Amino acid sequence: MDKKNSHWSELIADEAAEKASPPFIIASGITTSGPLHPGTLCEFLFADAIAKELKKKGETHFIFNADILDAFDSIPEPFKKYEKELAPHLGKPLCFTPDPMGCHRSFGEHFLAEAADAMHKFGAHPEIMPAHELYAKGAYDEYAREYSERKDEVKEIVRVSSLRETMPDDWHPIMPICEECGKVATTRVLSYSNGTYEYACDREVEYTRGCGCKGKAKITDHKYKLLFRLDWPARQDFLNVQMEGGSVDHHTKGGTIATVYAIHRQFFKKNGPVVFYKFGFLKYRGKKYSKSKGIGHTVGELMQLLPLPVLEYALLRPDLQEDKELVLDEKTLLTLVSDFEYAASIDAEKELERADRKKAVAYSLTQGKGWNAPLQDILVTYALHKDWNEVGKKLGDPEGVACLAPYVEQWFARKWIPDKYVFELKGAPHEHANLVKEFASSLNEGMGEQDIQNSVYELAKKSNVPPPELFKAIYLALISKPQGPKLARFIKILGVKKVKELIA
Ligand SMILES: [Zn+2]
Ligand SMILES: [Zn+2]
Repeated sequence: MDKKNSHWSELIADEAAEKASPPFIIASGITTSGPLHPGTLCEFLFADAIAKELKKKGETHFIFNADILDAFDSIPEPFKKYEKELAPHLGKPLCFTPDPMGCHRSFGEHFLAEAADAMHKFGAHPEIMPAHELYAKGAYDEYAREYSERKDEVKEIVRVSSLRETMPDDWHPIMPICEECGKVATTRVLSYSNGTYEYACDREVEYTRGCGCKGKAKITDHKYKLLFRLDWPARQDFLNVQMEGGSVDHHTKGGTIATVYAIHRQFFKKNGPVVFYKFGFLKYRGKKYSKSKGIGHTVGELMQLLPLPVLEYALLRPDLQEDKELVLDEKTLLTLVSDFEYAASIDAEKELERADRKKAVAYSLTQGKGWNAPLQDILVTYALHKDWNEVGKKLGDPEGVACLAPYVEQWFARKWIPDKYVFELKGAPHEHANLVKEFASSLNEGMGEQDIQNSVYELAKKSNVPPPELFKAIYLALISKPQGPKLARFIKILGVKKVKELIA
């Protein structure tokens, strides 16, 4: 296979298989600190797509890390109503912040459950590893100890790899969780010796401040977390992660990934992941999706407006490193769904043009089209019958039509369906009554779409009328509008008999 014709998921899987051997371990992860964000979908969909390709080459494990030992640092907009209950917990790890809804053990787990639910809906089934469980079972202890024993060395690696001139005097790899107040954002290590550290809870951050107490703990008490830039390589090391992804901001000069590799190579004296792939941002009309600024669709909206496989396709088709515009409106919707239908129709086994092959692979990574009748036919038939059961029956695809119907109704409600699909069957006056009648009487049941199309052109030519004028007259005679759905297909759906009745 020519590399140019490969989908990015194949290229990454190929590269991984060249440099590593099975079992392949691919990881991805997020901090679940609020309602699911479309960017989160990318975090697991991209890794899942690569995992699917890797599975063709050997045993593959997909791990999803949930960084919920991170500090709870802001109350998400929809939870402002719980501000009174939540505010005292700012600064604590998300996994030790209560769930105000009461349905999960913690705030972090509430949103992790939401993310896990979305993964399952999208057919991704990674092994989910919450950070606090990894810490609790001591997976990080050896690293915390080594980082602390060789603190000056690791501090210098972080300084150089993150392009900083200087580092704070009280910099330490360990972030203690305060015994008194439970916060992790406000503590600092005062001293360390042989697996035991003393700390003070006296730092002030934007959203909270420490309780002022001092304490002492052992690494083996598991009441700490590591700085993010040190946690990441440690986790990759003990989980043997060979592939992981990061958005472009992690890949900048001096960015997190620079430190991750520096730690692997200079501190652990190992190579680190064989592939650290980079992916672009999700954009909405040129701006980065942002929950806090209210830019972009919400996940709920996307899932309500697009059948899941179409959403998967929209995210998996473009180049991985490119920023992806994900805007649903009257201009983009039908184009996207038609492109998806087209991708579904491509025979991936054949010799294909580059663009088509990428579309076919992107489609193969989705859960597949859930309907058989073409959307255009569904729209026309719905305009004619205004009854989904009837549409399903007429098109011989009752299940497919039922699966698409709720989305199509949303599209109609938002006026995203072009006008040509909104009509009634009744004629209006027009200039070419005789010609249109001649056209109608020339139709017979045996004609194919091409025959019908040709007959309009032939009749126009014979009568010295520009073809667009004749098309317009026929539409007016059928639906009182100067244009409509593609005529030949429309006539086939309507039935020749019905057309003759209408144009009698
Ligand atoms: Zn809950
Ligand atoms: Zn405290």
